Amino acid sequence: MEPSAEEFMREAVALARANVKAGGRPFGALLVRDGRVIARAVNEVNQTKDPTAHAELLAIRRASQSLGSASLSGCIIYASGHPCPMCLAAMHLCGIQGAYFAYTNEEGEAFGLSTAPIYAQLARGPQAQSIALRPLRPSDEHGLYEEWKRQQG
Ligand SMILES: [Zn+2]
Repeated sequence: MEPSAEEFMREAVALARANVKAGGRPFGALLVRDGRVIARAVNEVNQTKDPTAHAELLAIRRASQSLGSASLSGCIIYASGHPCPMCLAAMHLCGIQGAYFAYTNEEGEAFGLSTAPIYAQLARGPQAQSIALRPLRPSDEHGLYEEWKRQQG
């Protein structure tokens, strides 16, 4: 019998707990397709000093590598904590079908683990955020995308 959604989530939380014991942050994630675990990961920000080494992102990378595809359609992600906007965007990029989390941003807030402020920034639009995206094209620059299109044949 296939494990249930709750059993997958129990494993994601268990990964997070084990990561805490190992000096990491309290996050773990599972990527599942057709009832089978394709990738497991924990947050490795403390261990690697890579600020993007979130459990969900690492699980997506591992799953893509093991499946040999940048598309993870049909996959479900089980994350111990509410995914941040970076990881949610990565889920959109690879076409994940669904996502679950065990602990909310509200629960994480008192511990500095909420990413709600980043969601609030993103809700403002690219030009209105504290990091405003500003266009800057060198005067003689043009045709990059056309070059790519030609390379495609
Ligand atoms: Zn994240």
